[in-house]
Amino acid sequence: MEPAFQFCDELGPEKILHLYDPQDTGLKAILVVDNVATGPSIGGTRMAPDVSLEECFRLARAMTLKNAAAGLPHGGGKSVIFADPRLPLPEKENLVRAFARAIEDVHDYIPGPDMGTDETCMAWMRDSIGRAVGLPREIGGIPLDEIGATGWGLVAALEVATDFCDLQLSGARVVVQGFGSVGMHAARFLEERGAILVAASDSSGSIVNPDGLDVADLIRCKQGGDPVTEYAKGTRGDGDALIDAECDIWIPAARPDVINADNAGRLRTKVIAQGANIPCTEEAERVLHDRGILVLPDFIANAGGVICASVEYHGGTESQALNTISEKIGSNTRTVLSAMREQGQLPRTAAMAMARERVTTAMQYRRYY
Ligand code: NAD
Repeated sequence: MEPAFQFCDELGPEKILHLYDPQDTGLKAILVVDNVATGPSIGGTRMAPDVSLEECFRLARAMTLKNAAAGLPHGGGKSVIFADPRLPLPEKENLVRAFARAIEDVHDYIPGPDMGTDETCMAWMRDSIGRAVGLPREIGGIPLDEIGATGWGLVAALEVATDFCDLQLSGARVVVQGFGSVGMHAARFLEERGAILVAASDSSGSIVNPDGLDVADLIRCKQGGDPVTEYAKGTRGDGDALIDAECDIWIPAARPDVINADNAGRLRTKVIAQGANIPCTEEAERVLHDRGILVLPDFIANAGGVICASVEYHGGTESQALNTISEKIGSNTRTVLSAMREQGQLPRTAAMAMARERVTTAMQYRRYY
């Protein structure tokens, strides 16, 4: 197949744009609009020196499925800017604005924050071309990381999961890998429901306390700039220590493929709620399923951020966003876990079938000429 069409299948991608300006701004970026049958695509703009077309396409496809599964009036897209996100701010602003101008006419893509970009970058984009989501509160945004939109959605999925396995949130023992925006808010909302955080990690290592870590205290420690390993009331260890920590709920909220065939047999939990994108390999999900561990798939359980962005885009309020997240993620989790129970499918297989069906049905309502 021609290299330019290497990712094509029955869903997309609809367009791939290579953006390169060696002379003035130094912009080097890629935009993939995967599928817009359900509406103009929403997906983050990632800034990193080592991004790639393949990564951009995989993330755009994940957004197609996530947005369709959540029943949003938006398709999937993603963009990447090849640059170090720690650039001096004026240079970063120039680059982000150059990127925005370069995609100004691609009206079926609405950028949002992702790794290396934040709400300030989205404010620059909105100012440059009139569209972006994940905006600062001062210009009508609902700051999704500040309110914990994705953590809130994970808890909505876990509430439904209690009907499908031997789990109660009150008293549940929780492990969070990656105590960042997603992980800390998930821990906070679970603690409000009576759960106990027994271990957490970040890139510095882990902190474990079987009697329970104080979530508010640990958040203060992180927000004050210290890693979790600086938290005094627990036992410090390396990141791997979390794999063996006995618990009821294990939340991966950091990197891809952290649970794989080598360690899936070691986890001692009832449920895995996937906060990060693709945190388990396919093989690991099968091993976990066979061991009776319930896995809540990423693009169902971690859709809180994009649902929040969509509510913002359509003029909704913060409380509407939180209610919409609970309603959509709760109902999707029930659909997926019911299919698992009734048809013996892996949760991910059921989730993929549901999302693909929604996209292909939406495609039938469209004509391209
Ligand atoms: P973040 O940068 O706020 O937090 C990530 C945390 O993970 C940090 O504390 C970091 O130190 C830690 N970390 C990094 N490498 C680690 C490792 N090897 N082991 C343990 N911890 C490690 O990021 P975030 O916004 O919380 O996103 C986390 C994940 O969730 C990412 O994969 C992201 O793509 C995904 N996600 C985020 C959202 C959202 O709304 N922010 C929505 C959907 C999916």
